Amino acid sequence: MTTTATSAPPQGRTAGRPKVVVLGAGFAGLSAVRELKGVDADVLLVDKNGYNTFQPLLFQVATGGLNPGDVTYSLRSFTGGRSRVRFRQGTATGVDAEAKVLRMADGEDVAYDYLLISSGIAANYFGIPGAEEHTLTMYTRKGAIEVRDRLLTAFERAAEDGGAEAPCVVVVGGGATGTEMAGAIAELRNTYVAQSFPELDPSRVRVVCIEMLDFVLGPFEDSLRQYAKRSLEERGVELRLGSAVAEVREDAVVLKGGEEIPSALTVWTSGVSAPKSLSEWGFPQGRGGRLQTEPDLRVQGSDSVFAVGDVGAVDGDPLPQLAQPAIQTGKHAAANIKRLVGGLPTEPFSYSDKGTMAIVGRMSAVADVKWPFAGKFTGAIGWFMWMGLHIALLHSFRNRVTALAGIVSHYVSRSAQQNVIPGEPRSVPLKGRQASDTPPAERDAKLERQGGRAA
Ligand SMILES: Cc1cc2nc3c(=O)[nH]c(=O)nc-3n(C[C@H](O)[C@H](O)[C@H](O)COP(=O)(O)OP(=O)(O)OC[C@H]3O[C@@H](n4cnc5c(N)ncnc54)[C@H](O)[C@@H]3O)c2cc1C
Repeated sequence: MTTTATSAPPQGRTAGRPKVVVLGAGFAGLSAVRELKGVDADVLLVDKNGYNTFQPLLFQVATGGLNPGDVTYSLRSFTGGRSRVRFRQGTATGVDAEAKVLRMADGEDVAYDYLLISSGIAANYFGIPGAEEHTLTMYTRKGAIEVRDRLLTAFERAAEDGGAEAPCVVVVGGGATGTEMAGAIAELRNTYVAQSFPELDPSRVRVVCIEMLDFVLGPFEDSLRQYAKRSLEERGVELRLGSAVAEVREDAVVLKGGEEIPSALTVWTSGVSAPKSLSEWGFPQGRGGRLQTEPDLRVQGSDSVFAVGDVGAVDGDPLPQLAQPAIQTGKHAAANIKRLVGGLPTEPFSYSDKGTMAIVGRMSAVADVKWPFAGKFTGAIGWFMWMGLHIALLHSFRNRVTALAGIVSHYVSRSAQQNVIPGEPRSVPLKGRQASDTPPAERDAKLERQGGRAA
């Protein structure tokens, strides 16, 4: 539990009406706020960003298929039309469970009667040397934009060199995010680079996906894993299955056994865990740092704090860190808060598994559907299901329309006019394998002088 000597007095509760604070505006937090409609309480949604990020489509932003605004949604727009719901932008740094306040980075304390923690997870680098410093992740809008900018810069720099050294892009992790990312980069190479970079021989631009297990898409059943493997290989992704990363350098990934794979850009999708700072919040944590909850989703030992989505786990029965469990736990915890406000006992959560999906590329996806019908689908059918579901899940009508338009033009158009959304110049190791000639900070400054950069 944290205490700050300098904290300002807590933002007070409204006399007579309990205050519900929802920390984190992801799938879980937004579904909780929706479910709290009609509750006789004041609801405060807190997030460090002023927008919600739709993570499942971030790979499209990272490969220039969608604009960042297509997958983000203003939280002020979300709370705007809801009576008794307010938004506060800020970063939470801890909880004083006795005083019932959420500590904020700006020194303010936010009082609560019920707190719902839905603050998600972060990358886990498993202590691998260089992984945190030299890889990019895909969990945020900023991260996806940085991947896009460095990826497109890598192609430009190789073209400047007359194609003498083609870049190699490495994706670490062959789970759903790694598979989607590797497939999307390979397609970008096969279409956009092949058609728009006459200086480059696309067959020399390598896309490597490293996975410790002997298969990709670990949580899926074997026939779907095999399909995804074939589909990645058909797109020219070099799969390094059964390979563990020992070290990441600025311009290379070193495997256990000593092999070095040159890398102009390394994307880390290999694992997640709760942010390290969560261990200071004073709540029991289980595997991956997730907050341990009772079956009613209250944090163990607390009668007023709930933990849902990726950051929470029912003790002994952790759910996968996916959108559906986040939506369902957020909704259920909010329903339990409503019951408590109304003087009723809480109810245990039970998960309704609707299935899982992953996309590999154009007209290629796997879907293991469990509800409203059961079946396993691959290829174009799986792709249409994946697309339909993800567009429908986007949080606003505007995002659904713009994302659909972006995806249709990105996937359907195979012509040289395929409009990849360009980024700003960034520093990338010049030749992948060779140490870059100028230190990164100096290169960024030089690039900024040449054309500026934005995030
Ligand atoms: C690239 C990618 C692709 C994915 N694809 C799929 C997919 O296809 N299908 C699927 O089911 N799942 C997918 N997932 C997983 C899915 O997105 C997550 O399981 C889901 O977003 C979890 O929701 P959540 O509400 O728990 O957390 P999040 O969506 O991560 O939301 C957490 C929120 O908390 C805020 N926050 C965090 N810390 C603080 C703090 N200290 N103070 C204030 N605010 C804070 C963050 O800004 C964020 O808005 C994908 C994930 C990634 C990264």
